[in-house]
Order: sequence, then structure tokens, then C-alpha cells
Amino acid sequence: MTSQEAEKKIASLVDEIARHDHLYHVEDQPVISDSEYDALLRELRSLEEQFPQFRLPQSPTQRDGAKVADGARTIRHPVKMFSLDNTYSVEEIAEWVARVRKVLGDDDIGFSVEPKIDGVSVTLVYEKGLLLYGATRGDGETGEDVTHNVRAVRSIPLALTGNDLPDLVEVRGEVYMNRADLAALNAGREAEGLEIFVNPRNAASGSLKLQDPSESSRRKLRFFAHSFGRFEPQAKAPVRHGMFFQMVRGFGVPVNPLAHLCRGVTEVEAVCEEWGRMRRDLPYDIDGVVIKVDDFRQRVRLGETMKSPRWAVAFKFPADQATTRVRDIVTQVGRTGVLTPVAELEPVVCGGVTISRATVHNFDEAARLGIHVGARVLIERAGDVIPKIVKVVAEAEVRRPLPRVPTDCPACREEFICQAEGDVSPRCINPACPRQLERRLLHFGSKGAMDIDGFGESVAHELVERKIVGDVADLYMIRMEQLLSVPLFAQKKADNLLRAIQESKERPLSRLIFALGIANIGERAAQNLAERFRTMEALMGASREEV
Ligand SMILES: [Zn+2]
Repeated sequence: MTSQEAEKKIASLVDEIARHDHLYHVEDQPVISDSEYDALLRELRSLEEQFPQFRLPQSPTQRDGAKVADGARTIRHPVKMFSLDNTYSVEEIAEWVARVRKVLGDDDIGFSVEPKIDGVSVTLVYEKGLLLYGATRGDGETGEDVTHNVRAVRSIPLALTGNDLPDLVEVRGEVYMNRADLAALNAGREAEGLEIFVNPRNAASGSLKLQDPSESSRRKLRFFAHSFGRFEPQAKAPVRHGMFFQMVRGFGVPVNPLAHLCRGVTEVEAVCEEWGRMRRDLPYDIDGVVIKVDDFRQRVRLGETMKSPRWAVAFKFPADQATTRVRDIVTQVGRTGVLTPVAELEPVVCGGVTISRATVHNFDEAARLGIHVGARVLIERAGDVIPKIVKVVAEAEVRRPLPRVPTDCPACREEFICQAEGDVSPRCINPACPRQLERRLLHFGSKGAMDIDGFGESVAHELVERKIVGDVADLYMIRMEQLLSVPLFAQKKADNLLRAIQESKERPLSRLIFALGIANIGERAAQNLAERFRTMEALMGASREEV
């Protein structure tokens, strides 16, 4: 290939891959398979290695580029990034609309509404269509340089598409994470013994601060544009919010599909009510509705205060909170033996689901909150994570003592308790502890591990209780008559479980390594080990240094 041909080929591959990225990550309509996509990327990578002089700044190979050094750089925003005033009721929205009316008089006013994404605000600066840098909102005046990590967000184009691109545009929006992606991330972190993220916003924010973009790339961050800052030449800047959305959509930047124009306060209120009801059906968290005056000339007339614009307001959904009574406080034994208090609650509906238990971080936390049996407590659900107890709202009439740090394991009743210095929770160190075995079995059979269909809590409990299994390997030796001796099982159900267990033998080695739940071995470490050693025998025979 001549160098001229290579230059052309590289440019066309970059465009083609960008188009597929957009189809996959923004339109959700891929037209090629993952392996075809990988083949394109490999071809580009190899050409770039042969002809590094033709590597383009917007090349998809630059998405997980070099790590950055410690200490984030701060960036001054060319145009201040405001935060919005919050409203909490339809009455407050009506008051805001009345204030807007007062300034604009009898003008025709359109209100643009869009979901308030529970993510991290960032600004993306494109110069001549190429992504120059990305920064967090920070205090509104200066933010943190997160260029390396926004490049790793697949739905953010590295180069804008279209023919009539501005010389410079600052696209602002929200980096967020889908709840399902958070759940997968947390499952991996738990297996690695890392602290889990309590909600998608924390996860997105933590991911943008990572120094290694290949790690943030794996976390599946996403982006929705919601506004713009600087725009040059100004004469070409959009004059209405709806026009801006149409324009950036044309540039290949994702815009929330629910965003639309409303006429009048009644329509706005209806949207707030409707989105509040359907928010659980969205794949990502929203915590309200952003309402903006659509026409930019009207915005200029309304102006802004020191802190926030007068032409926009955020309606916040009521938090998913509820109060209920603590029935009992039990000690839960985790897969690794960690003992944590769990409050059993009188069932209550919170955020659309019935809640009957809430975890308390540890015994210190239980004491700090003063949780006791009979107390009335306020619980809150954040994202899809197990609800937490916010505070005690009323003590029990006859106040019971606070839960004490247990001195023996509730499962094996043996005094195998130890609490290492620095540990927040005691743990049961009995290797034969039945409760730990149950938890290990459940982890082994879970999705992402060996994925054994129909292997739930009650089955694990019975198998351990009846001593049918003594460790995970025993699962593969269960006989039909053993299952039929358990009242839980009829012929059909026993058949299904045995088949599911057999099928799980087909899972790749990396899944098996992960399923074993070895401390500090998460999904990724398991994959690395599997690639390196290929078979379980080789791995077991490996020396400490080899691993
Ligand atoms: Zn135990």
C-alpha cells in the first residue's frame, strides 16, 4: 500500500468506525456485528502503526489512550456554567411561570422540558468539529479537566458530523450510567472486595476521576447534551432551545429522546407528573424535570441572578422515602463471613417496590442511628440499591437495647469470631460455617458466574441444611433421589435443576474462576487468569510468581 492510499484508508476507517459507534451507542441500532466492528478497529490500528504520521486526533483508537498523571488540571469555563433553582411542587412551578410571564408580558412563551439526568455535568469543547477537551462543571467558573475520560465515553463523538460545523462550540450535558451497568460494575467490585457505588451518579463521578481511561471505558458511561456555552461564529448560533437540540443531534451528539416543547403551565405540570410515574421504567436514573424558556431572545430579557438563570428551573421529584417500623434486627453472615446487622421491617411501598428489609452498614452505624426493635424509621431508596435507614423518627414505646456486636456467629453458633484491627465488622472465620457456604453457593450459581437457572436462596438453604452439599464441587454430584427427598422438589423441578447444573459446565474458565469467589478476584482478574493459564489444572499448578 502506498502512503497516499494508507492516508485515505485511515481517514475512511476513522469515519466508518465513528458512524458505527454512533449507530450502536446513540441510535441503539447497530448494523454490523461486534466481530465485524473489531475487525475494522484492528485494521485501523495496524495501519496507524505502519503509518503513524497519518493518525488522526479523532481516531477511535485514541479513546483509551494514555493514562494521566496525578493531580487534575483545572480549566476555566469560557462561559459560566450555572446551576438551576429547584422547585418541589406544581405550585412552585406555577409561581415560576407567573414570574416569567410578568417579565415577558403577553409574548407567546414556549417551555422546553427534558428529564433531569442524575449524572455529572460536563462541558465538551469542539474546535472545528474536533473534541478539544472536556471538563466537569466544578464550581461553575472552573472545572476539572476530564478530557481523557470523556474520550472514553462511546456516545461522545470525537469528531462532530455534518457540513456546517461551528468554529467552536461548547456542548454541555450530563455523563451518566445505566442502572444495569452499575449493577454489573458493583457485582464485580463486590467480588474484588471493593466498596460498591451507592448510586449511578457516584459511579459516574468516580469514573470521570480515574487516571486510566481504559478502566473508565469499561464502565460504560453515557452522555446526553442539554445546553451550550460558547458558540462561534455567534451569528450561526441557534436562537431557540429546540433548534439547538436539532443542531447537535445533527452533529452526532446524543440528546434525550423525551425532550420536547410544551405550551403553557398545564402541559408542563402534566409532564412532571407523568415522568415522575414512569421514571422507574427508564434504564437510567432521573431525579426531576428541567423546564426552560425555549426562545433565547426571551431568555436575555429574563436574565439571571448571581447563582442561576431566571429562564430555567428544575422540578425535583419527591425522594423515594417512606417510614415503617423495625420488627427485628438480625445478623447477616456474608459469603466471606462478614457479620452485618439487617433490619427486618414491616413491609412498606417505597419507590414502587415493597421493602421489608434494610441493611445497616455495620454495628457502629446501627448504634449511631439508634436503631432498635419497635422504632419507627425513615428509609430511602437511592437508585436500585438496597434501601438504607436514614434516621429513627420515633422510638418504640418501650425502648429496646441497641443491637450489640455479636460474640458468636448466628449460623454456626461457634465462637469463630474475629475482628481485625481496622475492620469495621467482625467476621465468622469458621470454614465450615453453613451460612457462608450458602452464600458461596449462591454466588457460584449467580448470573455472571456459573449462571445456574433456578438456583435460589431457598434451594441453597435446603441443600446445605440437609448436608447434600458440603462445598461447591458437590453441586456436580447431586443425585436425583437426593433432590426428591427435599419437599421443595417435585420431579420436574429436580430435572430442571440437574440439567441447569450440567449446563453450567459449559461456562468459560474465567466464569469458573470468578464463581469460586476468591478474595480480590473479580470478573476482570478472572478473565486475565483464564487467558493466561487456559485450564483449571494449569492454574492450580501455577506457582505464586506465575500468578
Ligand atoms: Zn459462622
